[in-house]
Amino acid sequence: MDNIKLANLLFPDVTLTPEDLERKYPPRNLPEGARVTRFAPSPTGYLHIGGLFGALTDVLVAKASKGVSYLRIEDTDKKREIDDGVSAIIKGFEAFGVEFTEGVTGFGTEKGDYGPYTQSQRVFIYHAVAKRLVEEGKAYPCFCSAEELSALREQQEADGAAIRGYFGKYAKCRDLSLEQIEANLAAGKSWVLRFRSQGDENKRISFEDMIRGKIEMPENIIDEVLLKSDGIPTYHFAHVCDDHFMRTTHVIRGEEWLSSVPKHIAMFKACGYKVPKYVHTAQVMKLDEETQDKRKLSKRKDPEAAVSYFVEKGFPKEAVIEYLLTLLNSNFEDWRRANPAADAMDFPFNLKKMGASGCLFDLAKLTDVSKNVISKMKAPALCARVAAWARDYALAFYETFTADPAFSTAILNIDREVPKPRKDLAKWDEVEDYLAYFFAEPEADPALLPERVRPADARALVAAYLPVYDPAEDKDAWFARLKTLCPGLGYSPEVKEYKKNPEAFKGHVGDLSSVIRLAVTGRTNTPDLCTIMQLLGKEKVSARLNRFAEKL
Ligand code: GLU
Repeated sequence: MDNIKLANLLFPDVTLTPEDLERKYPPRNLPEGARVTRFAPSPTGYLHIGGLFGALTDVLVAKASKGVSYLRIEDTDKKREIDDGVSAIIKGFEAFGVEFTEGVTGFGTEKGDYGPYTQSQRVFIYHAVAKRLVEEGKAYPCFCSAEELSALREQQEADGAAIRGYFGKYAKCRDLSLEQIEANLAAGKSWVLRFRSQGDENKRISFEDMIRGKIEMPENIIDEVLLKSDGIPTYHFAHVCDDHFMRTTHVIRGEEWLSSVPKHIAMFKACGYKVPKYVHTAQVMKLDEETQDKRKLSKRKDPEAAVSYFVEKGFPKEAVIEYLLTLLNSNFEDWRRANPAADAMDFPFNLKKMGASGCLFDLAKLTDVSKNVISKMKAPALCARVAAWARDYALAFYETFTADPAFSTAILNIDREVPKPRKDLAKWDEVEDYLAYFFAEPEADPALLPERVRPADARALVAAYLPVYDPAEDKDAWFARLKTLCPGLGYSPEVKEYKKNPEAFKGHVGDLSSVIRLAVTGRTNTPDLCTIMQLLGKEKVSARLNRFAEKL
């Protein structure tokens, strides 16, 4: 067979050579040990939490080694693509502060010298490589129709073939003569380009996965499709060319690709490329509430599978990243303890500290991490974050919240500048309810009165308190004032005293402050009540106390 002739027949217009490409995309000039990683999603219009997980790994592994991470869009499968699917992915990364060194940056925009970073714009590269493979006898055209392929599948079934696919005696087009190919082409038959596998089904291939260690699998014997009939490459072929010419050193991807490694290695070798290092990461799982089994986070069943969920709910990006890092690297928490104020993006990510089995994504744990993160924020920064979220997701609240920024900052500052700030808030969508009584009079429910306070006692308290209530008093004076009212109302000013002698009192000072809290805020638990009352002002506080007393 004259392979050169065949190559020219199949790719008459391709003049670019792999050597040209080697010159165009030279090995990167990076320090020793620097890693080049990539995140390579298909533009499905959706960023899965597992994607954020993977991208974070890519970015941090590159960063820790002074290398390069890049974002490549793998849009060769038009069926899976949706309009503007790229923007959803980019927006997802932006929302979480995950930034690649190179690659696609938006719809139609990119940065870096190894582009284009979108596969549909790289067809010239795939064709140059494909032509060379044909010249070397490593690829051939296959003219089998869909009917022929399904007949082949049936035949394999009838034969009970252990391996299914286009190979060996089933590979009808593998040994067509040049004349037959010419005739088929002249007849206008459509064709795909197939890989001429050199694999031996009795041999095994072994490779090193940086998380899973040495892995052995049977060699690939399938003549995989490299180019589809429209000339568009398959993922397998495209990513081999891309990872080579973008000079990727580490392929970090989901474990679902593990079984494809033998065919990928065979393709890298056939092209004469160095095989990259492999890192197959564990899936993000959740505990199914019904079955209590671990299962993959599913796009269909779990809203939290999409990263947009965390943006919409208003989980601070730092909290999500922080939590993902605890799942990703077993030594993250130690590092965090040693570096409490450091930016999570500076964490020296270590591939060896990644687990091989599925990690459990637990919303309750994220919520705890988030409460902690928010408790450390300063009020002005917190205010800005809440406002930015509300502008997009809760417009009416945004108007109320931003009407008086000094007031909003002050109310969010209650109990914040203290050694142990409260951990009430986990996400921005809770803020509106959390602060509701500052912006509107609450409906205080008498049923929430403390056990030791009857309605008549509460009424008596309000009557005694209003004449002496002085908003200028600080916390200590405020509490001392309340204590002075206790004896007249039958309550003990000291909790200890009450506990020693409970029969002597109706209750203690804490019960009375709970009544005021309930009347003013409608709640049984709030940050410091004295400050709340100061910020609300005498007029509102008095009106609320009066109205509550009327209700009793
Ligand atoms: N485009 C592939 C996907 O969306 C990426 C696989 C890889 O990273 O090699 O799953």
